[in-house]
Amino acid sequence: MRAHQGHEKTSLEPSQANRQPDRGRNPTSLDALEPATILYLQEAAGNQSVTRLIQRATDTAIAPAAPGQDAEVVAQQALPQLATDPVLDLVEELVAAAASLAGTGSASKALAVIDVHVNSPGSRSTETGKELDPLARLGDVLSADDMVKRLTALNAKQRLTLKQHVHNRLAHMQGQDTEVLAQEALPAFATDPVVDLSEEIVEAARPLAGMPQANAMWAAITDQVLSASPTRRSAPANADTDPMAALQAVLYGSTVVAGIYELTPDNNAKPKKREELRARKHSVLSHVFHQLEAVASERAATATEPSLGTITHEFDLIQASSVKGYLKTLQEYAGARDGLLQAFGALEVGSRVALNRAAAYYNTPPMTTVTAFAGKTLQWPAIVHSSMAAAIRQAEGKLYATLAVKMQQDPVAAATWFAGLQDSFHNLGDGVEIRANANNAFAMSVHSWGWAIDVDAELNPNFAKGSPQGIVKVVTGQDIDKGSSGKGRGNFTTGKQYEDVKVEAERLREISQDYTAAFESEDTLKQLMLRYVNGALATNWPTSFADDLLRTAQTADQAGDDQGRNVAELLKELKEVAATGAVSKGPSTLLQPPPSLQDIMESAELARLGQTLVWLARVYRQSIAKPPPVGPPNRVAADFEGTPSTIAVHGFMNLDPDLVAALVSSGLRWLGSVGEGTKDFMHFELVNPPALY
Ligand SMILES: [Zn+2]
Repeated sequence: MRAHQGHEKTSLEPSQANRQPDRGRNPTSLDALEPATILYLQEAAGNQSVTRLIQRATDTAIAPAAPGQDAEVVAQQALPQLATDPVLDLVEELVAAAASLAGTGSASKALAVIDVHVNSPGSRSTETGKELDPLARLGDVLSADDMVKRLTALNAKQRLTLKQHVHNRLAHMQGQDTEVLAQEALPAFATDPVVDLSEEIVEAARPLAGMPQANAMWAAITDQVLSASPTRRSAPANADTDPMAALQAVLYGSTVVAGIYELTPDNNAKPKKREELRARKHSVLSHVFHQLEAVASERAATATEPSLGTITHEFDLIQASSVKGYLKTLQEYAGARDGLLQAFGALEVGSRVALNRAAAYYNTPPMTTVTAFAGKTLQWPAIVHSSMAAAIRQAEGKLYATLAVKMQQDPVAAATWFAGLQDSFHNLGDGVEIRANANNAFAMSVHSWGWAIDVDAELNPNFAKGSPQGIVKVVTGQDIDKGSSGKGRGNFTTGKQYEDVKVEAERLREISQDYTAAFESEDTLKQLMLRYVNGALATNWPTSFADDLLRTAQTADQAGDDQGRNVAELLKELKEVAATGAVSKGPSTLLQPPPSLQDIMESAELARLGQTLVWLARVYRQSIAKPPPVGPPNRVAADFEGTPSTIAVHGFMNLDPDLVAALVSSGLRWLGSVGEGTKDFMHFELVNPPALY
């Protein structure tokens, strides 16, 4: 970051203490030049920084401080404008100390360690015996007496600025550009709306941290910060006496609302800008959460149960609890930490109690291991909350009841049906998986709480990528965004009875089967093309036209002609052939009349059709595995992120309709029947989840 170049001389200054002459108590800068240290520094900050450090050591040696004037003063004289801001020095020192962790799997840990120390200086004793561990070294730097003093001297705003800049610098070093992009437009160290906004909110919310209203406080903050049109309200009358009213006065007051507007995209904003602003809003929430959580943890601390202080200590507590099996590494914990702590009420009771609540939640029971379903042993067990296990048992009971009824009618058919049902699934997924939404640290997946199962994920995929709904409609003529009634709002199976759910599940499975049948081979593909064109043009072209359609569409696809102009041209010719038996070459262009409105509409229609045929050719081509096989088409593998081509081979709904009916009518919501938007055919979740604590 160019703007920082003037400050880099301070980048490896270990601390003021290091420049004092007593080597016995305090390492001098020359200690920092021992071979092992140089290696570490080279790794941490690069050769240039080491050269500068050597330079500095030499400077200090040849320019001894006058009596009563220590080296710090000498440095200040050399760089007068820098010494005025203690935050700048700290930014450089912390970045240098954490530099070797940037871009590694430990980067988020390093940031969390820095945040904790900046929030509560000296909150942790130095871990010993880990000199070779860069994270432990970072902890050492942060725990040094002098560093603690300097951090303690900062006010809240300086702390926030410090963290903000260390985060940005390290993100920059590891090439994570989202946060950096957002920052680069701003002159370094200038007023940052993220910092200002976070600070305003934290100051107003601080009295509520560690109090019973903390969760309501957090909900209000989240709603307002993430709002697309932040609300402005006049201050409540009791703002002087009620801390919640005081927070509302600030949260809905002109300063904060203006700050949030700065981070809110307008309607014309490009996707990249939206993404950037969204990331910055989440950055505000993270800053606010970290600070308030630290306050709550300090308030909840007792002599026997002090504040955990660091993410490492939190992780130690997790490793000694039932949560251990779900968060195996510190990195996994770092990714889920904020959402987990928030969900278990850390803003109200502090992190230690929140983690104890989590430990109670993940005990066995209520966590339950499901190893079999409907008489079939699962490929691997699923661990779910007892409420989910109860729903699964209830569904199983319904399937056995259905079997009993069928047995009385026709035992052989009943046995065949039940065997088919058992064949239609193999696993219920892993069950509990503690993870945050990739885009929102505070939105935890419901899998985190054991409230969801994923049945045979690959064969019943998620439609997040590629949005195959459109092509499914082209190929099958059916709209899977709508239920059989044609209505498309909300989830069209939730809360319905067994038979009603089964109707919807059967319909979706048939659409899935029709879709794969259309892409079974080149032969079925060309039949699909002809069928589609005949439907769209209300014609009855013969099968002999299909070869031309397929070949022309395939050629256009291979040539990358997404517009399919040649295909549209072919369609025009075929129309003439069908009408007259031959292609009329027509008079020369000079003599042609201007195109009528009907001509224009017809060419637009043919262009659209041409494009669609190229699309179909592409979906089929991409459904063939690479490299091209010698024998019969070797198809692509199934994927839990369904694309038009993977579902062309494997379908998207392979669950037995009775299985879906039994699960949904037992209190589960199926994301395969979401009215509009993202579909997830594998996923069933509790409609009425239990409390976490
Ligand atoms: Zn799921």
